[in-house]
Amino acid sequence: MQGLLEQYPFIQASNYTRAGRTTAGLIVIHTMEAPEKPGTARGVAEWFGGKRGAAPQASAHFCVGPDEVIQCVRLDDVAWHAPGANRVGIGIEHAGFAAQTAEQWADASSQAILERSAKLCAEIMRAAGVSPGRLTPAQVKAGMSGICGHIDVTKAFPDEGHGHTDPGPNFPWDRYLALVSDALGSLASRAQGNGGG
Ligand SMILES: [Zn+2]
Repeated sequence: MQGLLEQYPFIQASNYTRAGRTTAGLIVIHTMEAPEKPGTARGVAEWFGGKRGAAPQASAHFCVGPDEVIQCVRLDDVAWHAPGANRVGIGIEHAGFAAQTAEQWADASSQAILERSAKLCAEIMRAAGVSPGRLTPAQVKAGMSGICGHIDVTKAFPDEGHGHTDPGPNFPWDRYLALVSDALGSLASRAQGNGGG
């Protein structure tokens, strides 16, 4: 498994576990609880990296905003984002709030974030061998491969988490999974266009 997705800037988080993983099965979707504006992804990445005062006892593999994606932890290392599932998980933090309404998730900033994230998600699936499709908490607990929200990890491992419920009840899962499916399709057709060389 390639540790870095080379198309994204990398700002190393301070707190994570060196793991040398060769595979990862689970993509965990988070919200940062920070505004959906340009600069938020970089700001949170710098916070994870200890460049804005003391680094938190937390990290994620990627931070996604409307303007850019920043990688913070290599895919072969373990980020600290979803206790109970960190060992197999890849965490994606999104600018925005778990309390957003369906209407707020449909605005232009959210749409830009979801499109960037879906493309990233497809790239991670190919790099790490994660299965497409959303998992229930029971499936997360059983160690199946797929995508879930932080809340699903909290429900799967109630004794380990901190009760986080992001990305919130109105996160547009159907729209997001459709975007991921489109992104997987264009990655596949690009690979074909390269003639397999
Ligand atoms: Zn979270």
